[in-house]
Amino acid sequence: MTTSLDDIRARIAAAAKTAGRDPADVTLTAVSKQQPWEAIAPILAAGQRVYGENRVQEAVERWSGRREEIELRLIGPLQSNKAREAVAFFDVIETLDREKLAIELAEAIQREGRAPVLYVQVNTGEEAQKAGVAPGEADAFIEQCRREHGLRVSGLMCIPPVGEPAGPHFALLAKIAARNGLGALSMGMSGDFELAIRFGATHVRVGSALFGARA
Ligand SMILES: *Cc1c(COP(=O)(O)O)cnc(C)c1O
Repeated sequence: MTTSLDDIRARIAAAAKTAGRDPADVTLTAVSKQQPWEAIAPILAAGQRVYGENRVQEAVERWSGRREEIELRLIGPLQSNKAREAVAFFDVIETLDREKLAIELAEAIQREGRAPVLYVQVNTGEEAQKAGVAPGEADAFIEQCRREHGLRVSGLMCIPPVGEPAGPHFALLAKIAARNGLGALSMGMSGDFELAIRFGATHVRVGSALFGARA
């Protein structure tokens, strides 16, 4: 039987090949937020090891008993007062987007003696309701994170506006990453991960296409 995981993996590999890229350079982040354990268990059993969550508390509740088996990525907004908990629990935090959070993360990394991989979230569509630094401020923010706060930034993440072609947003994120020497690009979701791979995504975040619609 072909599972949704086989299907998504095959689509990732095909999209990478079409783009002249090595499929091994694209990682599937299975977005398990708001999913019942019955939906996650078969995917975990089938060998999927990288998961994305958008809330610290929910992630801790879902994964704390299984923490060693998996890589956990925070893909939702992080409140400054949760920085320490997030640093203690996540392998990757994809949503660094403001100086106050940079300060809190730097302090938490010192105190916890543990440094998650950090991505800066860019609000490529400059939407008021969306988190992320504006594209025009990204270079300065990345530099500030590195120089003033001693943070090692490894990549960028974006969530393009709903109802707009995503291609230009993916292209913009890739361009900002390239000029800042950043190798990791988290972009593409259930509806557009193949397109994101064409534009250079190294990590695609797939939820509903893998697990079914969220509750
Ligand atoms: C929920 C979520 C996803 C997954 O969305 P799907 O359309 O279900 O694949 C990806 N990225 C972020 C940041 C999310 O919050």
